[in-house]
Amino acid sequence: ENIWTLPYLTLANHFKFEGDILTVNPTGNGHINDTLLVTTDAGKKYILQRLNQSIFKEPKNIMENIENVLSHLKAKLEGMPNVDLERELLTLVYTDSGDCYYIDKTGDFWRSYLYIDHTISYDIVPNTEVYRSCAKKFGEFQKLLSDFDASILHEAIPNFHNTPVRFETFLKTLEADPVGRAASVKEEIDFLLARKEDMHALTDKLEAGILPLRVTHNDTKINNVLVDADSKEALCVIDLDTIMPGLAAYDFGDCIRSGATSGAEDEPDLTKVNFVTELFESFAEGFIGAVGQNFDEEEIMSLLMGAKLMTLECGMRFLTDHLDGDNYFKIHRENHNLDRARTQFKLVQDMENQWDELTAIIKKFIVK
Ligand code: ADP
Ligand code: MG
Ligand code: MG
Repeated sequence: ENIWTLPYLTLANHFKFEGDILTVNPTGNGHINDTLLVTTDAGKKYILQRLNQSIFKEPKNIMENIENVLSHLKAKLEGMPNVDLERELLTLVYTDSGDCYYIDKTGDFWRSYLYIDHTISYDIVPNTEVYRSCAKKFGEFQKLLSDFDASILHEAIPNFHNTPVRFETFLKTLEADPVGRAASVKEEIDFLLARKEDMHALTDKLEAGILPLRVTHNDTKINNVLVDADSKEALCVIDLDTIMPGLAAYDFGDCIRSGATSGAEDEPDLTKVNFVTELFESFAEGFIGAVGQNFDEEEIMSLLMGAKLMTLECGMRFLTDHLDGDNYFKIHRENHNLDRARTQFKLVQDMENQWDELTAIIKKFIVK
């Protein structure tokens, strides 16, 4: 008998699972929530997840967002041919009292989904085909939600991709220089200061009404797409905790940032960190092809800026944390956050160096 079974059995029993519970075991490779796989004697499998409340301060809001978005997606997909709803969309499992979450004695929030079997989630982009297929899913996600009123969603994490606000935080930390590291990272600081005007490129267009407010996923790493184990086709976008109002460029951008690179996010040897144009191209093809006519040309062109800004913003957050004494991101070695900042800045530099080529790639996929 595994160690998870006994303490979590009572808890799991609050959900409307078919059959009696056989096992409860940790599963997946998530870094935020605690994810368990429940099996029952009726041959059913379920995901049971504890929400990370140090990140999500308002779990009820998160669950309300998820319920709203999933019911919209379900209504949309139901009307389409050849859709296997329980494989292509997360399905919440409710509790005996009819809620989509259960609060345990310690105040922890638990929720459950049908387990989508026979799938893989990749931590590293394995090839252009899988990346394109995941891009298509993220694009479809945008397309299906293009008639959803994003303003009714709660802000899961306030100012998550508000790059100007992140820049302000960086400047404040730089000025305070609490652990005296600023002098040693002058080059990286100058890299950011030189891009001051870029910081508000997207938010200005949102405020001016040039870019529409959309439902954004905000954690578009490819390991948040389940891929069919046989066909290697992307099936389902998961990990909906960070859904909130935002710009499509954020979702496009973050997946380029984390995926279209030859090196790990914390690779100390920058000669190993290069922006991979072929991956960018396949992602752009999948994503833009899927959103189709739902995006105008302005919005499609904003995707490239999203790729640059999400990378710049992420690097800025790493550098800010380095200046601040490593309080936010977990570090496993000296200067870990600095190494991370440097990889992101290297990617930004690469994108800038081939900006015209990347622009031409995006333009190629616009459907007229
Ligand atoms: P985190 O925010 O911690 O990344 P996720 O919701 O992404 O949490 O779940 C972590 C992992 O658990 C996923 O990467 C995936 O491998 C697995 N997983 C989550 N939900 C499902 C599901 N419905 N079916 C199958 N596997 C799932
Ligand atoms: Mg995840
Ligand atoms: Mg998550």
